[in-house]
Amino acid sequence: MNQEPVPTADAVSKLIQELNKLPGIGPKSAQRLAFHLLRAPEEQASLLADAILSVKQKTRLCSLCLNVTDTDPCHICRSDQRDHTKVCIVEQPQDILALEHTRIYNGLYHVLHGAISPTEGVGAGDIRIKELIERLEGSSVNEVILATNPNLEGEQTALYLNQLISPLGIRVTRLARGLPFGTELEYADDVTLTHAIEGRQEF
Ligand SMILES: [Zn+2]
Repeated sequence: MNQEPVPTADAVSKLIQELNKLPGIGPKSAQRLAFHLLRAPEEQASLLADAILSVKQKTRLCSLCLNVTDTDPCHICRSDQRDHTKVCIVEQPQDILALEHTRIYNGLYHVLHGAISPTEGVGAGDIRIKELIERLEGSSVNEVILATNPNLEGEQTALYLNQLISPLGIRVTRLARGLPFGTELEYADDVTLTHAIEGRQEF
């Protein structure tokens, strides 16, 4: 039997294929989403497509904290409502979302874009540590809060950063225990995170 090319079906299977590449989206969910979009008004599909493109085309990294932003410096770095003497160090931009959600922290951030992991071949030079040290040197920052993930990579990274930052005469604190070991900040609930920030201790 000749396989007649069916443009719509091709388009649908292409969409399923692309959705399936997203984290947490298995083949079944990809199929469900694709058929949902197929039935949805064209305007909704357009808005989604635009939002996806915008995230790639209209965002960049803040030149100060390396958070994802559409203005440089980002709104946190620019704000005079924030405490510019504190910098909280996180692994990923989504960790900032989790911490901001608690509304307990009012300082600035620095995004490392990863963590030191010898097993995965990620060294100190592969994440944004150089930018952090340059930013701290000669700044008015008096406390750095290490909010890397409470897992092996996060602990190694915190240890390494403490060795670099302490000699600068800056107080180094670490989020309080209570975050279960092996988890990621991004998935911690507000109450646990709030306790972790409030109970932060000298490193
Ligand atoms: Zn920023």
